[in-house]
Amino acid sequence: MVRRLAECAPATRIREVTILRPSLIAPQSPDELAATVQGRKVVGYARRAKNVLLHLDKGWTVRVQLGMTGHFFWIPDARQLPRFTRVWFGLPGGAAFVFEDSRTFGNVHVHRTEELPTVFAAYGPEPLDDGFTWQQLKASAARAKGPVKPFLLDQSKVVGLGNIWAAESLFAARIAPNRPLPGLSDPEWKALHKAIRKTLAAAIDNAFRVTASAEEFPEADLLACFVYGRTGDPCRRCQEPIARFVQAGRSTFHCTRCQH
Ligand SMILES: [Zn+2]
Repeated sequence: MVRRLAECAPATRIREVTILRPSLIAPQSPDELAATVQGRKVVGYARRAKNVLLHLDKGWTVRVQLGMTGHFFWIPDARQLPRFTRVWFGLPGGAAFVFEDSRTFGNVHVHRTEELPTVFAAYGPEPLDDGFTWQQLKASAARAKGPVKPFLLDQSKVVGLGNIWAAESLFAARIAPNRPLPGLSDPEWKALHKAIRKTLAAAIDNAFRVTASAEEFPEADLLACFVYGRTGDPCRRCQEPIARFVQAGRSTFHCTRCQH
């Protein structure tokens, strides 16, 4: 999404803000958010965990937390807002940024840019950052107990992995989702670290590639899965049927022959 924004609207200015679902702004005030953001120039786009960041001039940043079903994107014509538009930003020439969110687990806030480290204090490291090492991943599990997959979903340990990509990363690392954390060897931590980075980078590339236009979001995140959603289908590596079980309330998919 962030790559698309930079491509579609490399430089723009927010002319007006329309908040159709004020609960997504809470606890901030819709009027205050609109007053702060209106007229500001967009000076850059970024991402932290699953938040899209619009850096504005005068030291402000709009933070769009995508939640489960949120999409944030640019459209050329604000008269054609998608069905689940909750907040939109009018831009010059009739274009708009749209926050579309069918299930409304997301939210939109504005912050002083300098306050972002505090806003994100509870988040773990970004796995795609250059500085993210396997030792850092292992260290983040030092006081964690229980199996490896729920650990990967814990955004305070490492960000970015939801249910799909945690399962896929474990398959790529050939580690069973129910392996207890303290039992992982250093070579396994190295393999998991590498698998997480490779899996997320490929997922982002695939999602970017299949979003043919800015407002189209097919099941991008289900592309190129090895185990997720493939119960009973043959493993792409060994042909064993993919197994599913429920772990910490979530569906988990794995190959019992490839993953140990
Ligand atoms: Zn297999």
